[in-house]
Amino acid sequence: MNAALIESLHKTFIDYLKKKKMKLTAEREAIFNKVCNFRELFTLEVIWQELDKENFHVSRASVYNTINLLMEANIVVCHQFTNSLVKYELCCVAEGFIYIICNECGTVRKLQDEKLTQCCTAVKTPKFTREYYALYFYGLCSKCKYRLATAHLKEDKQDTNK
Ligand SMILES: [Zn+2]
Repeated sequence: MNAALIESLHKTFIDYLKKKKMKLTAEREAIFNKVCNFRELFTLEVIWQELDKENFHVSRASVYNTINLLMEANIVVCHQFTNSLVKYELCCVAEGFIYIICNECGTVRKLQDEKLTQCCTAVKTPKFTREYYALYFYGLCSKCKYRLATAHLKEDKQDTNK
């Protein structure tokens, strides 16, 4: 990500904190910088682990609270893919993607489809101001599909051996 974009996100964050009468503490700054390093999806745990590795010790609650502030400031978006699968991402790298989620292993991939993006942009939403959209496709990844298919074969074999 280019420096100008990070600079503008940083300004957005500071302005938001000011509005909330909060300060940009060293912790918040470190978490912000870490988040800006991720062009892909991340979890709160990963942010905490990465900071911990660099000997920057913050509590998990601090990570959670700061990510919430970043979400309120429209810098970070939260994807609740399933009840137990929650991932975060910078808003600026999330726009216009389809998320493909495997119901078996929870792998999430991102795809872009020009036609679909055009369709979604063209959709009219009367009496509603749209800010962003997210598209999730649920199914089976090829690895899980293969694993499940071969598991059935193994079961069949066991049955015929009886
Ligand atoms: Zn899978």
